[in-house]
Amino acid sequence: MGPATADINVLESLFNEGLDICRINFSHGDYSAVESTIQNIRSLNKKLNRHVGILADLQGPKLRIGMMKNGGVELITGNEILITTKECEGDDQQLFMTYPQFPLDVKVGETVLIDDGKIHLRVIDTNGKDQVRCLITNGAYLSSKKGVNLPNTKISLPCLTVKDIRDLEFALEQDVDWIGLSFVRSVTDIVELKDIIKNKGKRARVIAKIEKPEAIKEIDNIIDVTDGIMVARGDLGVELPMERVPLLQKMIVSKCVQVGKPVIIATQMMESMITSFTPTRAEVNDVANAVMDGADAVMLSAETSVGKFPAKVIEIMRRIITEVEEHETIYYKEHTPQIKTITYITDSICYNACSLAHHAGAQAIISMTNSGYTAFKLSSHRPKAPIFIFTDNVTLLTTLSLVWGVRGYYYDKYDSTDQTIDDLKRIIKEKGLVKDDDLVINIASMPMKEKGRTNMMKLSYIN
Ligand code: PGA
Ligand code: MN
Repeated sequence: MGPATADINVLESLFNEGLDICRINFSHGDYSAVESTIQNIRSLNKKLNRHVGILADLQGPKLRIGMMKNGGVELITGNEILITTKECEGDDQQLFMTYPQFPLDVKVGETVLIDDGKIHLRVIDTNGKDQVRCLITNGAYLSSKKGVNLPNTKISLPCLTVKDIRDLEFALEQDVDWIGLSFVRSVTDIVELKDIIKNKGKRARVIAKIEKPEAIKEIDNIIDVTDGIMVARGDLGVELPMERVPLLQKMIVSKCVQVGKPVIIATQMMESMITSFTPTRAEVNDVANAVMDGADAVMLSAETSVGKFPAKVIEIMRRIITEVEEHETIYYKEHTPQIKTITYITDSICYNACSLAHHAGAQAIISMTNSGYTAFKLSSHRPKAPIFIFTDNVTLLTTLSLVWGVRGYYYDKYDSTDQTIDDLKRIIKEKGLVKDDDLVINIASMPMKEKGRTNMMKLSYIN
């Protein structure tokens, strides 16, 4: 979301082109703009009977240089430059950096990258207090407030900055579905964020943005504690050699699918469409490949937030996704449940429902859930049959919009199992999602009234 989607009519056209979830990037924009965007999303959800979700994205310890004299200056390769932590206007002699511990954390020989890696510096020495001397190893024009990446430096800043804590509080007051955390380095970053959310009595789930080498080293543990992952290719491709990103994307997606944690592919997917009416063929391939990898979501940034054709970008993305999903073997990533775990019974039902759907060629898998657990679990097997989730937990519906293959519906009757199953089958038939003689699979928890864990499965025809 951004200035280009601030008008509710534009946003409505995005909804109609197939938008499922909106990212609000707290690196930009003020609270009043965010508030009005959230209002627009929610009123369109009502008007169009949709469940478009909201992801609030926290900036994290993003480093930046300060303002530059006359807006910018050319940095010449081979010259030296001073980085200071005392606020000043930058020029070709010195730059201000918004990271007070930098002279303490950095070591001689380490690399400083500015503006998405367009400018390279090498540290010559540091006074350990407020100044770091660098050699410009690759110069370019530098303007105000550009981002800085320190791929080899152990940064001592906390993952949640003062700004993040404030933004988080605001986002939680707005009751968003997902919170993204940038520059995650360790499991504790996620645990701390989850603790704050829990202590405030909120339901938001967490997306760990993978864009640091430290996160790659700890990827299994991070996937374990987080609710979802973003492959944040923009910063990841600066912090690590960019040629490593494609295989890292595949590795992360496959791990996430196995454990049923939604995974988002982000950045430059349709970059040329910020100004152009059509994407490059390479971009079309990139989106298609993300779908083939098994991603839950493909994300747009500047293409929709400040781009010239926000609705067109989504239309083209939807067309690519639809085409790949019709023809590609992206389905059936079944994986057996682990015995002797507390979730074994539910996991086993979900696994067998998907496996049966596969072999029986079922047209739908229908489940009721309060926590959402079965939705995530069913999705992790990537069944070809759509997953229809019925819940009385309204806020879960927008959360589930991020999850692959899942469509959520509100339902609050808890009668007998027989009656409920008949009712749900009737509802999806009335919605035109299935037709007479289609085979469908229902999973549920018996007895229904206890709202316990899913423990039964039924295969039947629609009639
Ligand atoms: P950002 O994250 O757009 O918030 O920087 C995504 C990325 O780095 O790719
Ligand atoms: Mn980033």
